[in-house]
Amino acid sequence: MKFAENNNQAAEYLRQAVPLMVKHNIPPNPLNYALWYTYVSDRVPELNVQLDKTLTTYGTCPTMLSEQLFREHMIKDEIQGAEDIQANLIGLINNLHEHAGDVAKESASFSDVLEDSLDSLKKSEDGETSLPVESVIAALSTHTKKMSETTRLFQDRMDEAQAEIQSLKEELNKSRQDARVDPLTNLFNRRTFDAELEMLTAGNQSITSSFVLVDVDHFKRFNDTYGHLMGDKVLQYVGKLLKDSCPEPMIPVRYGGEEFAVLMPGSTQETASKLAEDIRAKIQAIRIKQKKSGEVISSITASFGVSQLVPGETPEKLIERTDQALYQAKESGRNRVIVSS
Ligand code: GH3
Ligand code: MG
Ligand code: MG
Repeated sequence: MKFAENNNQAAEYLRQAVPLMVKHNIPPNPLNYALWYTYVSDRVPELNVQLDKTLTTYGTCPTMLSEQLFREHMIKDEIQGAEDIQANLIGLINNLHEHAGDVAKESASFSDVLEDSLDSLKKSEDGETSLPVESVIAALSTHTKKMSETTRLFQDRMDEAQAEIQSLKEELNKSRQDARVDPLTNLFNRRTFDAELEMLTAGNQSITSSFVLVDVDHFKRFNDTYGHLMGDKVLQYVGKLLKDSCPEPMIPVRYGGEEFAVLMPGSTQETASKLAEDIRAKIQAIRIKQKKSGEVISSITASFGVSQLVPGETPEKLIERTDQALYQAKESGRNRVIVSS
């Protein structure tokens, strides 16, 4: 995202943003400054709609939602851009490296040819080798050897650069894994979710909130039958389905393995179970086809536990109750939604 305001305009936006942040109890960190600066500048209408909705629900904007809004509305293009640049850079270096290898080979073989010629000139039977020719060739040979050596050094440098880029790439992957987002589904992960739920339950509980646990049915069997890779694709698909079905301020997360969860601030148990029922039907409607034959190989189902946060309840208790409802859904035949009593 580009900020093209002049200084006066920028200062004015900040003057408007700061009191708003104070009013809504928004932590003053760089991410939030950027978010609220963008909000008052009204440059991303969609962001304003989402932030307004969040404020209506919570009276503030929880950390996790701020990050989600920031990622979705402000840095999406930049992340994509950075990844493209990295991929291009690696491609470029690979090309250069190949090219340098070829040059080194060529120079080396040219040097061999020249040396052979020199030998044969020396050994010429008529003994009339002309010195100037010999010395020219000798000089040429020395020169070519130097060139070959230089190219080899260049290739070594390129090797080093490539190794460095590789290790940077590995670091990037690792930091992504450690981060708050699950790499397979792009949803928030359990660690992030736990922290947010903790904050939510510790805060103002006058807002009605609900919680849904989702567990894919017989997923071990699915993996055993169709393979882990196909299993991963199903999890990605279910993740996307949850994301599309749960608009902000709802927070869908990958809870672990083949389990997902949705935190639904501002939703009653009835709303939550209706939505869970919708999602259940959508998952059941997923059709997985064999790539080659186009034949439908299986349908997927999932079981749901739903509960509404009771004022004063701890996160552990809320999860335990929802887990019990989920267990009942499994026990009573799977592919169903059970609301915690
Ligand atoms: P139930 O209906 O009782 O939930 O049965 P289930 O087989 O789904 O439950 P179980 O807990 O026995 O097995 C969960 C399976 O989920 C086993 C594990 O291999 C699979 N799984 C967990 N994480 C992943 C993943 O990231 N990718 C894939 N492909 N499979 C996963
Ligand atoms: Mg499970
Ligand atoms: Mg399961």
